[in-house]
Amino acid sequence: MTNNQYKCQVCGEMHQLQSLIQFPQPDLVNDILAGREKAQLDILSKGIVMINRTFAVVESLLSVKIVDDPDDDQLDMYVWVKVESKELLRAKQLFGREEAIVVFGTIMHPIPFYDHKDDFEVSFFIGQDDNTKDELQIHSLIGESQLAIDFKEGITLDKLGLINSALLHLLPV
Ligand SMILES: [Zn+2]
Repeated sequence: MTNNQYKCQVCGEMHQLQSLIQFPQPDLVNDILAGREKAQLDILSKGIVMINRTFAVVESLLSVKIVDDPDDDQLDMYVWVKVESKELLRAKQLFGREEAIVVFGTIMHPIPFYDHKDDFEVSFFIGQDDNTKDELQIHSLIGESQLAIDFKEGITLDKLGLINSALLHLLPV
């Protein structure tokens, strides 16, 4: 992927293909940390914060394979997932009984190129021992959205260019 350039569908220029995308921490979390928003924020563990004890904001890795990349690279997107407290409570009750627990949540922000109207429901594993995993990785996307299909089947380098263009110019589709 090192020297891959593509012609941008939006501005017509050549850009460098990016296979690592990190979405910024949600405004809500920034506002609470900066004192602009009054809410209780508890850090549960690395990448997991609880807001007002009602839901958690979790940073997780969404990896999509690139089917025609000779280097076998993949698109790694760090996204922010909202997990309701009852879901965390359910997971907590399973601690000790199961090695890894499947937790469901929703991606909190739009992913340019993919449809804004879709609620991206995801699931990921939480291990009992936080030290065993450096990051939480999404292992499934629920539903039939284009993102869910691409997650399952992978994308081409051409499509990565389209996703990059949309992101670079912050276009919804
Ligand atoms: Zn461009």
